[in-house]
Amino acid sequence: MSVLLEATGLAVEYHRRGGPTVRAVDGVDLRLNRGEILGLVGESGCGKSTLGRAVVGLLPAAAGEIRFAGHPVAPLGRRRRPRQLRGLQMVFQDPYASLNPRRRVGEQIADGYLLGGVARAETVRRTGELLERVGLAADAASRYPHEFSGGQRQRIAIARALATDPSCIIADEPISALDASAQASVANLLVALVRELDMGMVFISHDLSVVRQIADRTAVMYLGRVVEVGPTQQLWSAPAHPYTRALIAAVPRADGAGVLPVELPGDVPDPARPPTGCRFHPRCPLARPECVRHDPPLVALSGDRAAACVLQNAGEPARPLGELDPAASPAQK
Ligand code: SF4
Repeated sequence: MSVLLEATGLAVEYHRRGGPTVRAVDGVDLRLNRGEILGLVGESGCGKSTLGRAVVGLLPAAAGEIRFAGHPVAPLGRRRRPRQLRGLQMVFQDPYASLNPRRRVGEQIADGYLLGGVARAETVRRTGELLERVGLAADAASRYPHEFSGGQRQRIAIARALATDPSCIIADEPISALDASAQASVANLLVALVRELDMGMVFISHDLSVVRQIADRTAVMYLGRVVEVGPTQQLWSAPAHPYTRALIAAVPRADGAGVLPVELPGDVPDPARPPTGCRFHPRCPLARPECVRHDPPLVALSGDRAAACVLQNAGEPARPLGELDPAASPAQK
């Protein structure tokens, strides 16, 4: 499986007016293979959307490197080569805001074909085909976005992204603004397109249960860092990082209960003033004294997995969910 997209040491900063510089993404290494769906999860404010926007060039990177299809890409969109701009596309959370309400659907999709040098007359035929491919009628091209439901608008946004013939899609919470009835069908559409077109997709979501169903691998972010990454089913059945365990434990079951009776204490700390040592230590049920001082790097585990926790550094294996009771842990603060 060839590497399609790779971020190394990627950092993204923003400046609070009259306040400190905030590192919303702080030294992230991430890899996406061709034909793969990588889920990117974490609580609100963890930096996952910021990371996605930096990858497609909507935000500047403060440090690090992004490589796409084997070539380094400039961290700022306007300096990227046209082929790189077309090859990396983004689908946004809000299909109402991402489409121009004053332009016909067909015109907005045709923009992508024109960028790629397709003759204007040819764009009409291709736009109709693309609309059908995403589950809409070809004559939707002559209508305006307000004439469609939220799910249909997201299909239009997906068609618009596909018009540049991308090999990589960054989908930022692409179903969370949709009705429950549309969520599954749009998620299934994205999965089918990635498989059929042999693309890669980073699927950014706060919803672990959706990511569990569709992602081949999952990366977990906390306060601007990736704290665990690995094949989704392994990560789900035996999470290596206490934060991953807590996220999974909070996913409701069909009977209304969580998998484990674990709740994360407190809120996500202010990213302008991250905790010393392991950033998760103020909320970690397994924290040890060294966690306050030592900032654990992301280290490779067996089976294409990696985690950033002193427990793994000390050789403790990832354990099946349910085997470890945090309430009985040797947590010391
Ligand atoms: Fe918890 Fe320490 Fe691991 Fe951080 S390094 S997740 S505080 S056990």
